[in-house]
Amino acid sequence: MSQVDRRDFLKGAGLATAATAVPIEADAAIPRPAKQIPPEAVGMLYDSTLCIGCKACMAACKVANDMPPDVIPESLSGWNEHTWDTPEDLSGRTLNVIKIYRNGTAEFKDQEINGFAFVKRHCLHCADPSCISVCPVGAMTKDATTGIVSYNPDVCIGCRYCVYGCPFGIPQFDFSDPFGKIAKCQFCVHLQKEGKIPACCDVCPTGASLFGSVKEIEQEIGRRLAAAPGAPYEFPRGKIGDDRPPNAATIPHYVKGVYGEHEAGGAQVRYLAGVPFADLGLPTVGRQSPASIAEGMQHTLYHWLLAPIAAFAGFAFLARRNIARNRPDDEPKS
Ligand code: SF4
Ligand code: SF4
Ligand code: SF4
Repeated sequence: MSQVDRRDFLKGAGLATAATAVPIEADAAIPRPAKQIPPEAVGMLYDSTLCIGCKACMAACKVANDMPPDVIPESLSGWNEHTWDTPEDLSGRTLNVIKIYRNGTAEFKDQEINGFAFVKRHCLHCADPSCISVCPVGAMTKDATTGIVSYNPDVCIGCRYCVYGCPFGIPQFDFSDPFGKIAKCQFCVHLQKEGKIPACCDVCPTGASLFGSVKEIEQEIGRRLAAAPGAPYEFPRGKIGDDRPPNAATIPHYVKGVYGEHEAGGAQVRYLAGVPFADLGLPTVGRQSPASIAEGMQHTLYHWLLAPIAAFAGFAFLARRNIARNRPDDEPKS
């Protein structure tokens, strides 16, 4: 190949690559459409203003899901040698945890300044879950009817992508177990299959943890937010529509917004609170589902694998043409 031909070759190949590479950059950031909550999905409302921090939901969750106690080293002493469950956060052994917000003198319930408040942390059962999106083997799945996000330990390879992919910091891995698996709330799906309600909602004495369909939960939230602070209100307990006696109290001063309604594309677990959600330690998450952004980029790139294929086709064509040009005339041309 002459010097000029080589230059031609490189120029042509560069043009071929550039021509096919432009659409990759232009389309790379287009997210795929976000997935929606199924119409008959189950949901949960956690109303922080009703929570008294009794932690009955934590104990019931442990029993219902056959989870071992989580004993922090500080609480290990002669009188408490593996006796009490004392989790401070979610872990491979704890699917649900009640935490406390404190400020200043911590005198006033559900007040940001000099107040305190409780918050319950567990899986939100997202509309478009990142844990599912990042799992390479399909160990996380979302039920098409109930919307419950479940985990299959038999499929899981222990890569822990879901731990890092969840925008709410929910899935946990038990490193103390040689066959460790992911732990996260699965909405007590085994109880729901028996016609029961999630254990945390069943035992909650005040109705702070309340079960119902997402539609019912949204209507209940609408009623609470529409009522004037101080107005008498009968807060349902257990399950919306249950015949158990309600918790007769008054409407509190709610902060603006419903956590879980829009975060990361929306979720089936929603929060109401009297202090800002960020103060309660709930992650500040954008509205766009991270799964839709990441998968949109991936699909765009995979789609445009046509680009490198076209570039290589351009290289092959130019190489073949130049070889043919430089071949002695007495050689047969293919
Ligand atoms: S909160 Fe996290 S673990 Fe739960 S469904 Fe959403 S992404 Fe998955
Ligand atoms: S729904 Fe079940 S697994 Fe989830 S936090 Fe409540 S009790 Fe625990
Ligand atoms: S059982 Fe109800 S009131 Fe008690 S800590 Fe749990 S959510 Fe709060």
